[in-house]
Amino acid sequence: MSKLRVRRQIFLPCDTELILDIPLCMSWPMDKLIWHYNARGLFTVRSAYHMIVSERASNEGSPSTHNAKLWRALWECNIPPRIKLFGWRACVGSLPSSHRILTRVPGFAMSCSVCDHAEDTPTHAVLECPLAIEVWSGSGLDESLWASKYRTFMDCIVQAMQLLSEDSFGDFLAIMWECWNARNRFIFGTPESNLSILGKRALSFVRSYRLHHEATALTHGTVHPFAWTPPPPGYVKLNFDGDIISETIARWGFVIRDHNDNILLAGTKHQPGHADASIEEARACLHGLTCAHNHGVRNIIIEGDCLHLIELLKAKSTPDNFLGFLVKDITFFLTRFDLYAWSFVKRGGNRVAHDLAH
Ligand SMILES: [Zn+2]
Repeated sequence: MSKLRVRRQIFLPCDTELILDIPLCMSWPMDKLIWHYNARGLFTVRSAYHMIVSERASNEGSPSTHNAKLWRALWECNIPPRIKLFGWRACVGSLPSSHRILTRVPGFAMSCSVCDHAEDTPTHAVLECPLAIEVWSGSGLDESLWASKYRTFMDCIVQAMQLLSEDSFGDFLAIMWECWNARNRFIFGTPESNLSILGKRALSFVRSYRLHHEATALTHGTVHPFAWTPPPPGYVKLNFDGDIISETIARWGFVIRDHNDNILLAGTKHQPGHADASIEEARACLHGLTCAHNHGVRNIIIEGDCLHLIELLKAKSTPDNFLGFLVKDITFFLTRFDLYAWSFVKRGGNRVAHDLAH
């Protein structure tokens, strides 16, 4: 009887899927207890808190796949931290709109203090209120996104994340933030004399921030390449990416090119079940390396857009968790190559592998 059938007889179907989803380590380490809710596999109160919050959200039926992608897009966005924080607070429902205050202060008026609309929700405050519409109208951004009707603020943000590029998503958040600030200034007695210039002012603010950020990164040598560059002669370059495309499916993609930009090999693979994003990235890397080795590649540059994973692999650092097991496997597998090097590139430079994995 196969091991899979034994597992299916012993465990419930949902538990079987979870067990099958655990990455197995090729080097067969000793069994041990690990805490896989933080990056180093060590228990901390902070990670326990995040675990409880995420489980509660999951029990309330929140779209966790979208959430994981959204938080990544939000926190990695190249915009000032105060705008990221505003976006996060709006998504988790902690902006002090009248609707929110009413949940804490019984009897508080739920209507909008600007236009007397019956229900002052975050969606109303930053998208539907006449004050917000005037800010958006002057911003020059495509009306189809901000003028649509959304059931919740989260629906709006998820759609913006899916439709817009990274920078445009940041612009979108910046204008929302400006709408919220203009609304507060109106309520607290210092209204803006010209709302129509605020959208462009917010865009100018985030673009100045990006320029400053890039200049600072150049000065400190921490700038990362945005574009794909070919490997030197004698090497090939493997670009890989992994993504969670639904509640039950992960997908990996890779492409191998030579110094003349010729594609030697490319592939994509669906995987039932999924772990978190960095684990799927590591699995995609190992899959690409296996295909490269089977294809006869011996000198290779391995490039991905997950900085955390690339840093672990460069340092051969193996945290006490699933990701650590995969790093160990990848490091072990690399002994089959003659020469190798690691490279990190921003998502724009990893476009082909990214598209294959999405
Ligand atoms: Zn209003």
